[in-house]
Amino acid sequence: MSLPQILDHSRFNPGYLIGKEWIAVDPGVALDCVDPADGAVIASIGNATPREVDLAVAAARRSLSAAWGDTSPRDRGRALMRWASLVDAQREPLAALEAADTGKPISTARRDIGVVLDYLEFYAGAANKFHGQVLPYYPGFSAQVMREPHGVTAHIIPWNYPASQFARTVAPALAMGNACVVKPSEEASLSVLALTRLAMESGLAAGALNVVTGTGSGAGAALSEHRGIDYISFTGSPETGSRIQAAAARHHIPCCLELGGKSPQIVFADADLDLAIPAIVKGIVQHAGQTCSAGSRLLVAQAIHEAVASRIAEAFNRLRVGTPVMDLDCGPLINRRQKSLVSAAIEGALERGLQVLGQGRLAPGLNPAGNWLAPMAFASVPRQDPLAVEEVFGPVLSVLSFTDEADAIALANDSPFGLVAGVWTRDGARQQRLARGLRCGQVFINCYGGPSGVELPFGGVGRSGHGREKGMLALEHMSIAKTVVQYYGD
Ligand code: NAP
Ligand code: MG
Repeated sequence: MSLPQILDHSRFNPGYLIGKEWIAVDPGVALDCVDPADGAVIASIGNATPREVDLAVAAARRSLSAAWGDTSPRDRGRALMRWASLVDAQREPLAALEAADTGKPISTARRDIGVVLDYLEFYAGAANKFHGQVLPYYPGFSAQVMREPHGVTAHIIPWNYPASQFARTVAPALAMGNACVVKPSEEASLSVLALTRLAMESGLAAGALNVVTGTGSGAGAALSEHRGIDYISFTGSPETGSRIQAAAARHHIPCCLELGGKSPQIVFADADLDLAIPAIVKGIVQHAGQTCSAGSRLLVAQAIHEAVASRIAEAFNRLRVGTPVMDLDCGPLINRRQKSLVSAAIEGALERGLQVLGQGRLAPGLNPAGNWLAPMAFASVPRQDPLAVEEVFGPVLSVLSFTDEADAIALANDSPFGLVAGVWTRDGARQQRLARGLRCGQVFINCYGGPSGVELPFGGVGRSGHGREKGMLALEHMSIAKTVVQYYGD
């Protein structure tokens, strides 16, 4: 795939952004960026050591007592808006870059870059609209609650939606006046670097945004362990999330963890299946199931189990897998490791005798070096089977059945995860009971996900993490309250 112009910086001068400077990377320590569709090395990035992480944290700290610290909320908003307009002008090359680095179909990548724009614009507008409070107190006193930035915020980004996750976490942090240090995933850093370059072109103050690429165990651990940071935003696996939280606990700082899920789609007998089936299939095959909010458990009322199963089978049998440019239902998985993890989950299910309901197909002529995997749906999965319980993070749907509403809620909640739930029913009272009864961060009724949903607070409970990103609530998380009481006399 020919690489877009915007990649040139990353390709010829891979670097870390520290302050306003791009620091050149020693080629001897550079990491390869691999195209998941053919195994080709498409660029290289730096592998930061604790020294570069130190420099990035120091640059962020300095910015808080320099120009960035003096920037008004209005001007922080304007800075985000200028960045947004440069992103808007580069949508297509950014989408091509994201597709090449992650393997996702080009139309998904285009949507993701649209979401980046949504985040930048939303938080540009919000920067001077998130107010403190004046509280009623005793005579002669004034009491106020001010919102202040944490200071230096660390952002550890996963590989599945690097561009949009980057915007999702840094835009509200910058809107509130924090100085960010970002560690993208070594598996997919290119769009983050390209977006960062645009941020610099837009004139963002020195040190407000710093990026250090590298490995999780190297740069990621060094950043989350750093004594100079005041907050950590993390999206990724529950295991790494626990490490991040332990690091945050050691230096007494808050963290926000978004850790994936085993999200249920619950289909009642009165559901509109024409609406439900395509959304359910898209909800699990989007980006080959490598989505934290993937609806990977399909819970179906016994009365319509056969009808739903046959429609899911048909839909899965029609699914096609191909390169980003082919723009089919799924692309390849991100890397060999992820492919072997998902394949092992499938092989285990087959060995336990689970029945395949439907299966997609690979487009002819794909490069065998790509991490290809056909989406699969499994029928009548027992409730305690690993496939029904564990996050697979691939295009694999487990179909289970329930008897009545109470059973549906109990089954949906019988998971250590709690990120998203989809509810499909025409019964308004039932919709409300489910919305209240489900233990998770967000419930979608007769829909699943949204066009972008930047307005909607997002996060989980339990093994899905804690804290909320997106919407105005993110501004609360990206700031701290300071109470000020003044006695001015009777
Ligand atoms: P991961 O290790 O949790 O990676 C997420 C981010 O954390 C990446 O930037 C990673 O950097 C970094 N990281 C890794 N180890 C770290 C450490 N010790 N300290 C600080 N940062 C660290 O996830 P993964 O290994 O790529 O994927 C494994 C599983 O995680 C997937 O199968 C999936 O279940 C889950 N996952 C969930 C999401 C989500 O959206 N919730 C996203 C990705 C993965 P490097 O990538 O450079 O190592
Ligand atoms: Mg890659």
